[in-house]
Amino acid sequence: MSDSNKEFIFNMMSKVLDGKKITYEEALDLICSDNIETLADCAQNLTNKFAGDGIDVETLVNAKSGTCPEDCSFCAQSSFNSTVIEKYPLLPAEKILVQAENAVNNGANSFCIVCAYRAPPEKDFKQICETIKLIREKLDIQVNVSLGFMTLERARELKRLGVKRYNHNLETAKSFFEKICTTHSYNDRINTAKIVKKAGLELCSGGIIGMGETINQRVELGIALSSLEPDEVPINMLIGREGTPLFNKHLISEKEILQTIATFRFLMPRTILKIAGGREIHLKENDKKILQAGANGIITGGYLTTRGNKPTDDFKMLKEIGVRQK
Ligand code: SF4
Repeated sequence: MSDSNKEFIFNMMSKVLDGKKITYEEALDLICSDNIETLADCAQNLTNKFAGDGIDVETLVNAKSGTCPEDCSFCAQSSFNSTVIEKYPLLPAEKILVQAENAVNNGANSFCIVCAYRAPPEKDFKQICETIKLIREKLDIQVNVSLGFMTLERARELKRLGVKRYNHNLETAKSFFEKICTTHSYNDRINTAKIVKKAGLELCSGGIIGMGETINQRVELGIALSSLEPDEVPINMLIGREGTPLFNKHLISEKEILQTIATFRFLMPRTILKIAGGREIHLKENDKKILQAGANGIITGGYLTTRGNKPTDDFKMLKEIGVRQK
């Protein structure tokens, strides 16, 4: 561990504290730094300074599962993949309301309705709008959605209904994207992210690490996300599901996860940086470390097609490390 590397990390922290952006090369030096303790501490300082000291706790509902026409190679819900999952059409509003009530009762501060579509058919979009109205009338919880590609008209309708945040991940670096998806382009994803912002919705956009991308491509993803100025960035860690082309591939180490999240904090000091899918498998009990190294959000109670920690266990963990919920 060299003193010059430690000094470099402190210099980068000062640069960000001064309101300046770090460059691609600087981010690359940060992500490769073995001085984990200093990297984590400085990332945490930036979180405290720019993003407040609370943790965002979100719950998801998979409101329409499977049979997606896109060929994303990591995804258990793609119709190109043969992962054994429960597949169902759009859930009725009442069923989604019950899940939102559970989220409130479990203590989550936001609830995200996620559907596996390229883009929802008109009938489904209308039903989702009715569901959002019902939740907003009955419950006091932030409603977020993730429905695939958006038009400006639809995004404005969601904003009018009180949706706070729209999730649309970039998934990975542009230079790696065609290795994981061929049925749509990176620019299609950027386009929806921009539409979401134009409509006045908050943007949630992140990706998946550990799919075989290089360290440089992780930085490339961080820079691309940073240029979109997202309000939230969920970072998933690949679980190579059976039936997908990425089955059993590229397990990422805990150290690399920490280096990536901490570097992303330097790139996006103000965002909610959320450790998402794969947390329980890749980090086990060590998710605490990442929440003290730049991350300030978790998803609790499970993911779209995989189980997660029980909310009671997650809240216990937050209490142990002495952080409050946002
Ligand atoms: S578009 Fe979304 S739901 Fe469809 S295959 Fe890709 S990641 Fe999965």
